[in-house]
Amino acid sequence: MASQTRVALAEQRALAEILFDSIGDGAITTDEYGCITRINPIALNILGFSEEEVIGVWLPKLLSAYDDNGRNIPLIERPITRAFVTRQILSQRVRYKRKNGTLVPVSVTVSPIFVKDQPVGCIQIFRDITKEYEIDKMKSDFISLASHQLRTPLSAIKTYSHMLLDGFMGPLTKAQAKSLRTIVSATGRMNETISTLLNISRIESGSIAVDKKPINAAQLMDEIINEHQLAATDKKIKLITQHPDLQLKVLSDGVILKEILGNLVSNAIKYTNPNGQVCFAVKTKNNRVILSVNDTGMGIPKESRDNVFSKFYRGENVIRKETSGTGLGLYLVKGLVSELGGEVWFDSTEGRGSTFYVSLPLFPQTIRTQTVKK
Ligand code: ADP
Repeated sequence: MASQTRVALAEQRALAEILFDSIGDGAITTDEYGCITRINPIALNILGFSEEEVIGVWLPKLLSAYDDNGRNIPLIERPITRAFVTRQILSQRVRYKRKNGTLVPVSVTVSPIFVKDQPVGCIQIFRDITKEYEIDKMKSDFISLASHQLRTPLSAIKTYSHMLLDGFMGPLTKAQAKSLRTIVSATGRMNETISTLLNISRIESGSIAVDKKPINAAQLMDEIINEHQLAATDKKIKLITQHPDLQLKVLSDGVILKEILGNLVSNAIKYTNPNGQVCFAVKTKNNRVILSVNDTGMGIPKESRDNVFSKFYRGENVIRKETSGTGLGLYLVKGLVSELGGEVWFDSTEGRGSTFYVSLPLFPQTIRTQTVKK
């Protein structure tokens, strides 16, 4: 009887091993310390190791992981660590370093295994996504090329319609001036959409250049407010700024930060009814600068909250109101803020208003000045 059980167990184990080896993606199991206990042939093929080289080795030591910008992902941020800490199944796109030193983009899912609430190991399944990356890159290159090609004729339209409007080619009738103003404003919107598309393709292809310098927050806020004053006045919306410390400096890229905050202020104006108010404020907290844009607008419904930063997402409430938009602004904002090493989040009550926050590192000089003042 005992020997029959042993045979049955051995057969079951052999079957489990065959099943594991037959998984169509790379598969690795580890023990509770993260040391590799099993690896299937596809994983060995993707990574270029032999089975003898990997069994018993601590997974993070064998496999370095990098993000899309080539940054070595610290242990604490790796899916294997986060899966153990959060006790949840986690998926992430990373680049693993093969034995020959080249990087391979993979989509990895890590499932922690618990027996009676005790961690006993994990299984990670990963797929080579080189082809998807190549297609994404071709798409980004296409958008980038098309946007560049659209910009040149657009700037001619913009320049000449401005010249016409300013009377350089003779006086205009009221109707002609009205039509030209519509052309100028439509050209401005088209220009914004093109620059959004270009920026998104730069972020997605990892080619965005970030040049961080100390920037005076109050000055930057005033510039952004000036640029949006006309749109606000048209809607009878009051634009307010609050910057108690005129010397406050944020360590950031001025062009990128202006794009981020410009998007938030423009949304605040767009989604606020006439006679409302938009308040642009800055404060410091724990060596971070927190810039906020608060409005008394339509707010974000609860069911939209998880989606507003997704590509092409537009809330049902704003679509019903027939406001114009592409659903790309906040997706771009999120990508740009992350390029700057910051964070973005919001609070909102439907029908009452929203506040978007961006937190960025404080320029060290400001920190020293503040310490001396104390
Ligand atoms: P767009 O404004 O072009 O629709 P965004 O990506 O900028 O796209 O914003 C996504 C969605 O988030 C908007 O369609 C809207 O539903 C919501 N949203 C963003 N900002 C605000 C705001 N200040 N007030 C209310 N809803 C907002």
